[in-house]
Amino acid sequence: MWPEGAGCAVAFTFDFDAEEVWIGDDPANAQRPGVLSQGTYGAKVAVPLVLEILARQDVRATFFVVGRVAERYPERVGEILAAGHEIAHHGYTHRNPGDLSSEDEESELVQGKRILESLGARVTGYRSPSWELSPETIGLLERHGFAYSSNLMDDIRPYLHRRAAVVEVPVQWILDDAAHFWFASSSWDKKIATVAEVRSIWTAEFEGIRALGGACVFAMHPQIIGRPGRLSFLESFIEYVKQKPGVWVATIDDIAATVERGAR
Ligand SMILES: [Zn+2]
Repeated sequence: MWPEGAGCAVAFTFDFDAEEVWIGDDPANAQRPGVLSQGTYGAKVAVPLVLEILARQDVRATFFVVGRVAERYPERVGEILAAGHEIAHHGYTHRNPGDLSSEDEESELVQGKRILESLGARVTGYRSPSWELSPETIGLLERHGFAYSSNLMDDIRPYLHRRAAVVEVPVQWILDDAAHFWFASSSWDKKIATVAEVRSIWTAEFEGIRALGGACVFAMHPQIIGRPGRLSFLESFIEYVKQKPGVWVATIDDIAATVERGAR
């Protein structure tokens, strides 16, 4: 199913959450500069460093951007676009659409799309904050002109939703940097994984998906993967993936388009 005779697809994706992931977690965090500064690091330091690596490696990535983050850091969105990467929707606020009323969910979708488009992005994809959807989400995506969702965990290959002309590009926690590196400062109940542990987990999953001919979607966050000790891991891991035969490195939009082509 992959172009150029490739045996599998790989996407490097970055959820640009900045401060909004912390505010979405607890609105009171909006008044906590220390907590917020963890997110600010993503916008201030990490995004430019990630863009440098992607340019050196000649890889196009997908950045899922929260609407409010785009409003706060329009120059960063401009830099991502200027470097040729895909910008996609990641909520207007960083709130789970399953917790919103239907009206609020739709207005978040419209508002977030509008701000990204006003900055020059062609928005075709949606990743919810939290990877959770409401029963209405897929229908709303179709109604508002989205081509794909990248949220569900029921496959290793992209597929077309049954009731709507929306492609699903599946994800999994195992390929999410936050699942391994996130520090739970509220409970202190888990240690931060080493890059060696994550390299081992991601290599096994990538090789497994490659053997099965699927799409391997890495989901990262600038504020997490963008720590100095992890950036060198990221670059060496991209190099490792690229040198494997039969690997098609693509944006999620390009991966979704292969399903649309196959369906025609
Ligand atoms: Zn997020």
